[in-house]
Amino acid sequence: VGAAFEGKTAIITGAGSGIGKAAALQLAREGANVALFDLNHERTKLTEQEINSVRTGAARAFDVDISNPLRVEKAVLESVELFGGLDIVFANAGINGVVAPIEEIGIEDWRQTLATNLDGTFLTVKYTIPHLKKQGGGSIIITSSINGNTRFTSFGMSAYSTSKAAQCAFAKMAALELAKFRIRVNVICPGAVSTNIDDSTMKTEGLKEIIIPVEFPEGGQPLADGPGQPEQVADLVRFLASEQSSHITGAQIVIDGAESLL
Ligand code: NAD
Repeated sequence: VGAAFEGKTAIITGAGSGIGKAAALQLAREGANVALFDLNHERTKLTEQEINSVRTGAARAFDVDISNPLRVEKAVLESVELFGGLDIVFANAGINGVVAPIEEIGIEDWRQTLATNLDGTFLTVKYTIPHLKKQGGGSIIITSSINGNTRFTSFGMSAYSTSKAAQCAFAKMAALELAKFRIRVNVICPGAVSTNIDDSTMKTEGLKEIIIPVEFPEGGQPLADGPGQPEQVADLVRFLASEQSSHITGAQIVIDGAESLL
């Protein structure tokens, strides 16, 4: 494997599991130093060990709740000091959050879902911009969802879908604002991917049974038998992080095996 990312540094949020972990392994395999931000410290330490046990770029786990501004700011500074710069930001951490009919969603659950998925993305981008500018450019990749930019819906997930659509709007603004600094901003919109995301569904107390009002077509993803794999999404992240995508910014790329076309 070539070392396309030799000497580069990446911050990856949600790096303890799923898509973030696969992207961290992929970038490190090609030489990048990776700062792993996640609030599940145990799992993220394992990712760190896995990367550091092979001869690649170095990894360091940081205990960060991306919805906490002070924590994000501090961890970004620490990673830049540790690795001596910043080139790639993968704002990927997210949760399913509250899943319930709208009339049953509590404001606290609504806020917590948006605090992680939307505020977390904003804070990750906000606090990394100065370092990318200092580097003379860079690549920011944001994980949204087909819930955010297509007509695809998942019943009960209005807080999630709202946060994912807002990430797309935010990325569009950031792409234009940061273009003159040679910082690219792109969004990936996966369909179902085989990860631990279902553990992040918040339990709503006293929730009446969710009644699905329409029959959903069975079919999963036409291009595959089941959901996508995190490594397939990591290949797209790798492309958007690399110089091969040097003229791509403000894009929203669906990666769903045609799931959203059903
Ligand atoms: P995952 O649960 O396997 O991994 C997400 C990681 O984010 C976990 O390690 C978790 O601890 C971390 N995290 C959650 N809240 C955090 C916070 N506040 N601060 C720091 N870390 C936090 O799930 P995944 O599928 O790899 O999810 C990654 C992204 O992909 C999410 O934004 C998700 O919405 C998006 N996505 C996933 C799917 C899917 O089907 N898996 C589909 C579309 C979009």
